[in-house]
Amino acid sequence: MMETKGLGLYVHIPFCVRKCNYCDFASEAAGESKIDKYVARLISEIESYRSNEKIKINTVFFGGGTPSLLSGERFLKIVSTIKESFEILPDAEFTVEVNPATLSDEKILAYKEAGVNRISIGVQSIHEIELKKLGRIHNVADFENTYKALRDAGFKNISVDLMYGIPYQTKDSFEKTLDKIIMLSPEHVSCYGLIVEEGTPFFEERKSLPLPDEDEEYEMYATAHEKLALAGYSHYEISNYAKDGFECRHNLKYWRDEEYIGVGLAAYSYYRGKRYGNSSSFDEYFASDSANYNCKEKEQLKDPFEYAMLALRLKEGFSLSEYERIFGKRFAEGKEKELDLFSKKGLIEIREDRIFLTYKGFYVSNSILSELL
Ligand code: SF4
Repeated sequence: MMETKGLGLYVHIPFCVRKCNYCDFASEAAGESKIDKYVARLISEIESYRSNEKIKINTVFFGGGTPSLLSGERFLKIVSTIKESFEILPDAEFTVEVNPATLSDEKILAYKEAGVNRISIGVQSIHEIELKKLGRIHNVADFENTYKALRDAGFKNISVDLMYGIPYQTKDSFEKTLDKIIMLSPEHVSCYGLIVEEGTPFFEERKSLPLPDEDEEYEMYATAHEKLALAGYSHYEISNYAKDGFECRHNLKYWRDEEYIGVGLAAYSYYRGKRYGNSSSFDEYFASDSANYNCKEKEQLKDPFEYAMLALRLKEGFSLSEYERIFGKRFAEGKEKELDLFSKKGLIEIREDRIFLTYKGFYVSNSILSELL
């Protein structure tokens, strides 16, 4: 089905019950009054996009943080401001990220009322020891109950987030996680390798973390690719797998270099050819004025590295003639030998006008790109 043309709208909810041990996202645990203040500021930012001819939106994505921490009432208040300020197209994809152990019947009803049609659940693992070490607030039963409650409520497009390369994980335990998820049969699976980021508790503990080694980690990545392919999921992006027609339309916009508006703390936008972003400090965000889309604005200068890096995240890759049209030179000009070598190693494929990475190439995409550009 052809989707109607429109922008993406990202809404950032920067609150979590508590911080996970590996997380460096813009999020924190906060009390009710801070959440209320944030919702009020978010609403005024959304309203600043109102115009006579409303901006058309065909994907809405509530991400975080933990959007499911918001009460149904607060969530509906934000959504009604969105609907008053933008034109949400009838075939829009509307995603909310939820964490097990934060949902309730009231919230599920609010999602139905708001028109949410896609739910992304952060489960990460089905082993208590791994969840505990990650610092997740939920256990395995919480995930199972959440998944069932959402299916019972009629959600037909569910995504599940998993992680590999995490403490205590083995190839065997990861396979069990995959088998369990495949049995549940969500429409979409995201599978991210752990990155130990500076400033997180894991970083402090990095020398003694019981992590799988590099070879084991690669085996986990390859196992996910194989098992999910056998179960009917296409590996359409480095970390994302979908059943036919269930690719995340919102995230595809980022990778395809299409425009979107982001609202909330630390949210970035690419709108009318410009990229701009909000502060990641609450104080600065609360004090800012969104009348002119405020923020640090900069002209969009297309960067060949960024363009190729984003496009090569996708199985579809990019068109070589389009690249030449945009940047006035051939992709990897002068690096034909390296290109040939990557292709002989089975990391890159060029078919007709398109270049793309194989799943083995996905895994080492950064080093491929830094050799080619
Ligand atoms: S739930 Fe997500 S956003 Fe919140 S602390 Fe954990 S990893 Fe970070």
